[in-house]
Amino acid sequence: MTPTQKQAAIRSRRKMMQLSGKRMPRKRRPPVQLHPSAIERSYTAAILGVTAPFFNEVRDRLIQTLPGIIATRDVDLRVDGQSVRHDVGYADLIGEVFDGIRVNVARTVTVAAVSGVATQFAARTDDFNRGQVDRQFTSVLGIPVLRQERWLMPKLEAFVLDNVSFIKDITEKGTKDLQSLLMRRVEAGDSLRTIEKAIMEKMEATRRRARFIARDQVSKLNGKLTELRQTEAGVEAYVWRSTKDGADRPSHLHNDGKTFRWDDAPDTGHPGDDFQCRCTAEPVLEMFTEYGAKKEAA
Ligand SMILES: [Zn+2]
Repeated sequence: MTPTQKQAAIRSRRKMMQLSGKRMPRKRRPPVQLHPSAIERSYTAAILGVTAPFFNEVRDRLIQTLPGIIATRDVDLRVDGQSVRHDVGYADLIGEVFDGIRVNVARTVTVAAVSGVATQFAARTDDFNRGQVDRQFTSVLGIPVLRQERWLMPKLEAFVLDNVSFIKDITEKGTKDLQSLLMRRVEAGDSLRTIEKAIMEKMEATRRRARFIARDQVSKLNGKLTELRQTEAGVEAYVWRSTKDGADRPSHLHNDGKTFRWDDAPDTGHPGDDFQCRCTAEPVLEMFTEYGAKKEAA
């Protein structure tokens, strides 16, 4: 069915409902679509939860062995300022510690565990989005518009695959970065305290990365589901709604209140396309109603 046919089908369903005595809403503008902020926060917590063994390994194993590594380095470098090679040098110790971290993290931060978390949040975002999109349709049209969604499962599965690799990467890249940071700092002769501080900063950056992934991924999925649900229902255009909370990008604020077509994205992309964009697409529903159709015919 073309969008025009879908719109006509909904107009006649509305007509039938009206003939059977149901009163249709007079509202022409749908309520604002809410952003899944609570889901983003829970997802952040869940990602930090499932990757916790990595953070614990760094705290318990790395920080514990750090004084020994530094002491070995200081012995290695002492004689005449020339590096003396021992049977077990600090580089070996660092290698050992990180081998241990890798083994334990691989054992505890499993694909199954990570994919379980991602699957749960794909479903929660989908539920939330369906509710929001449905509310916008029914408040103006008076009848439910969303149907069975055959396209949905592959979308959610793609989200899970992407997210598993992003989350696994937090621990894998995290371990690799930490190891090279440590090698560099120990080699440079930094003190125990300085190195500890650098490790803590690195871990904080890794936590921020987890937060970024959670927010960005939920927000992107939510925006994509809005687009798919609206276009599947026959919506051709939307009104750009910015949050106007002071955090909008100037270019997105510039789009606010303007109408765009789903098949012709503005330079900014559609709402939700850009990193952590919280703008929404308010469906243009005029053509689903008798007054919209009349205006078109006139
Ligand atoms: Zn935006």
